[in-house]
This record gives sequence, structure tokens and C-alpha cells, in this order.
Amino acid sequence: MNDWIVAHDATQGKKAYAIECLRCGEIQHVATPIDVTCYVAMGRAFEEMHQHCREPALAEARDEPN
Ligand SMILES: [Zn+2]
Repeated sequence: MNDWIVAHDATQGKKAYAIECLRCGEIQHVATPIDVTCYVAMGRAFEEMHQHCREPALAEARDEPN
């Protein structure tokens, strides 16, 4: 399970219903209402793209000089 890839609820303003990778911060916006099959397919595709994203702490340590 990739618990850093989440779908937001309706209370998140611009992120409402969006799918987000909490490791790299990329957001997949979703226009609702949407066919559930499409939503699931979008989620699966997003999950595949981000399943190898690193923990933020590790990324910061490697990418930032200080
Ligand atoms: Zn990511």
C-alpha cells in the first residue's frame, strides 16, 4: 500500500477530490462528478507514477545543500 498517495475530501478547497502524492507534492485534479471507474483508473495511474517517490526528509537531505 502506498499511504503517501491520497485522495482529498470535499473540504480541501482547491484540493477538493484531488489525488495527491504527499512525497513530491504533485496533485492530480479531478473534475467531479466523475464516473467511478474513471476515478479509480486515474488513481491507479497516479499511484503507479508515484509509487517510487522518496520520503520528503530523504529528498531534502539529498537535494538541498544546507
Ligand atoms: Zn510523487
